[in-house]
Amino acid sequence: MELLKGKVAIVTGGTRGIGYAVVKKFLENGASVALCGSRKDTVDKALEKLAQEMPGSSVIGLWPDLQNPAEVADAVDQVVREFGKLDILVNNAGISAREKFLDYNPEDFKKIMDLNVNAVFVCAQAAAKVMEKQGGGAILNTSSMVSIYGQQSGVGYPASKFAVNGLTKSLARELGKYNIRMNAVAPGVTRTDMVAALPEAMIKPLIATIPLGRIGEPEDIANAFLFLASDLASYVTGEILSVDGAAMN
Ligand code: NAD
Repeated sequence: MELLKGKVAIVTGGTRGIGYAVVKKFLENGASVALCGSRKDTVDKALEKLAQEMPGSSVIGLWPDLQNPAEVADAVDQVVREFGKLDILVNNAGISAREKFLDYNPEDFKKIMDLNVNAVFVCAQAAAKVMEKQGGGAILNTSSMVSIYGQQSGVGYPASKFAVNGLTKSLARELGKYNIRMNAVAPGVTRTDMVAALPEAMIKPLIATIPLGRIGEPEDIANAFLFLASDLASYVTGEILSVDGAAMN
């Protein structure tokens, strides 16, 4: 069943990991997708991979600076010119760090907030302007399980994801009148480059805290995005959907 037949989506951080799985899932379900990355070369690489894995897909690549409102507005215009509309935005690009608070460089804190929070604001605003005129849409954010409990070091990352939840819940209330739904997916530990960078000694004890006994796969997370993006979730907004195997933090 093609749950997104005829829909048009933008996915930020779509070049690898969770974002790439979301792009594939949306394409498989009949959507046209604009995949965004931070650089042209990584976007081109992701498009080449998609051409092999899903030949003939309706996909384009863009690399706007997500914190720059003018560049993001241009990218949204380009998508509307190419595909005729915009139904779904997935704010997925994000970075993390695990510095201890007493050594935490304020510049690094700002860098995390700039991408994980400010860019979500900028992209959501550009998309909402189009969706409001169109009569509706769905904006989805990638939060994290640390947005519920915090984490033991690297305070910038959980703080940024608490802010993502705040944007999600508040904008659901503000944009509901335009038929724009706003939801977030809060993944647990998921097998991507972000996690591959963690030492095995850190992963093993993490798995021990997960009742389902494994870390998440990008496709587990993409399935949740598919549901929230689709009309099956037509009465779901302001929700932070945990997809974490009931991890106990
Ligand atoms: P990843 O490192 O594999 O991919 C990150 C993506 O973000 C890439 O496509 C990259 O191009 C993009 N990106 C990075 N910096 C950027 C910038 N400055 N401008 C534009 N794009 C940029 O990460 P992932 O694990 O797939 O994470 C994706 C999202 O999922 C993030 O928001 C992350 O916080 C969240 N998340 C991940 C996990 C996990 O365990 N992997 C758990 C919870 C939440």
